Amino acid sequence: MDVRVRYAPSPTGLQHIGGVRTALFNYFFAKSQGGKFILRVEDTDQERYSDESLQDLYDTFKWLDIHWDEGPDVGGEFAPYVQSERQAIYQEYAQKLIDDGMAYYCYCSSERLQQLREQQVASKSSTQGYDRACRDLTAEQRAEYEKQGILPVIRLKVPEKGVTAFDDILLGTIKRQNSDISPDPVIMKSDGMPTYHLANVIDDHFMKITHILRAQEWIPSGPLHVIMYKAFGWEPPIYCHLPMVMGKDGQKLSKRHGSTSLRDFIKDGYLPEAIINYVTMVGWSYDDSREFFTKEDLEQLFSIEKINKAPGVFDYKKLQWFNGQYIRQKSDSQLAELVLPYLQDAGFVSNPTTDKQNQILFQLIPIVKERLRLLSDIVAVSEFLFKGPKEYEAELLIPKKKQASDAAAIIASLKSSILPIFDMSDSDAEAYIVEEISNQGFKTGDYLMVLRVALTGSTVSPPIVESIKIFGKEKSLAALDVAENKILSLI
Ligand code: GLU
Ligand code: ZN
Repeated sequence: MDVRVRYAPSPTGLQHIGGVRTALFNYFFAKSQGGKFILRVEDTDQERYSDESLQDLYDTFKWLDIHWDEGPDVGGEFAPYVQSERQAIYQEYAQKLIDDGMAYYCYCSSERLQQLREQQVASKSSTQGYDRACRDLTAEQRAEYEKQGILPVIRLKVPEKGVTAFDDILLGTIKRQNSDISPDPVIMKSDGMPTYHLANVIDDHFMKITHILRAQEWIPSGPLHVIMYKAFGWEPPIYCHLPMVMGKDGQKLSKRHGSTSLRDFIKDGYLPEAIINYVTMVGWSYDDSREFFTKEDLEQLFSIEKINKAPGVFDYKKLQWFNGQYIRQKSDSQLAELVLPYLQDAGFVSNPTTDKQNQILFQLIPIVKERLRLLSDIVAVSEFLFKGPKEYEAELLIPKKKQASDAAAIIASLKSSILPIFDMSDSDAEAYIVEEISNQGFKTGDYLMVLRVALTGSTVSPPIVESIKIFGKEKSLAALDVAENKILSLI
């Protein structure tokens, strides 16, 4: 079988990380099978459509470096791939359903439908939804409505009795009593625009889609779609509804948990490699141990059989860890380029950068590389280099279980001890300072902590002996003077 799968987003919001996972599963399944991956834009809901969402769709997949074989921008045998450009096909096939007695015109006004809903709620009626009033209109009744100029919608005839079933690769057979299926949903609106169900089924059929991998929230649409395939006399594709994506608390992933749109993940400073790797592991695994996969690996190794049935848990911490790993794989110059926009946004460096700034960046990258989990972490770890030490309380300078006078002694020592460092290599500087500390009878931890606080205003920083060289002699001595004044004020 020539596998053909599609990602079929509706451009009504920013690309959600759950949608991205659906796209990746489809993409990797296609690639692993030597098949085709298709992008179809489902924009039949014109009220909720936005240009920004469509642009976001293109931007995010470009950033991920994921490409489709057929789609609105690249074309293909079954173009157009945008539903709003395919109205003629939907109209033709809706008409066919009418002609075959599988669908019918409904002339009910929105007021009548609203009243019906209210009555059903008031009487706690067990039947919900449309009452099929127009299902068996006579030709005369229809002519009467037409004469009044009422534009009808088209509704699908859902069988009133029996069962509709379909097979899902992961979940097995899914069965619904027809009496439980939404009574006769609208498949074509009065303005001639199809609804999701009709357009989706027609397009999957004509675009020769072989497998539907989509989120589990679409399961309730399954029986309806199968009824339509039957009504058209078409074979439905193979279904595979994907496990949900949950937060760690077992709730559906939402903004409460953290970023959800890919755009926000990008802003946060994630790398595409980490997103692709981690997001594919939410609900899929290769075996019990292997965690690292490049896009190229997954193009080979992905398989539907290894998708989990159970919901996937989206663990932001784990994703950050992956991101850190991928950051470490970058060369220093690649990483410098990646973090630069964050430094520019923070106002630490100009755009374009000056030689002096480039110099700092060049020295900074190797010492922070091991510590970044997000590209945006660069701002916090390097702030002191560009802006000087943060404001801090004098007490912060006092090592644990020590007095202000101990801190004062360390600062006094530092002021002279650090001077030779500026002319040494990093490893010489390290060895020198260790020796200096022990010669003078201080504790290494205390000594370096005082230095760290004086230079950065914080108890966490990149390796401090390396940082001090980037900071420079003058600024370091000035910072130690400030620290000295602070600590003396406590004595
Ligand atoms: N347009 C639907 C969505 O926004 C597609 C669902 C499907 O894959 O059938 O997710
Ligand atoms: Zn009606």
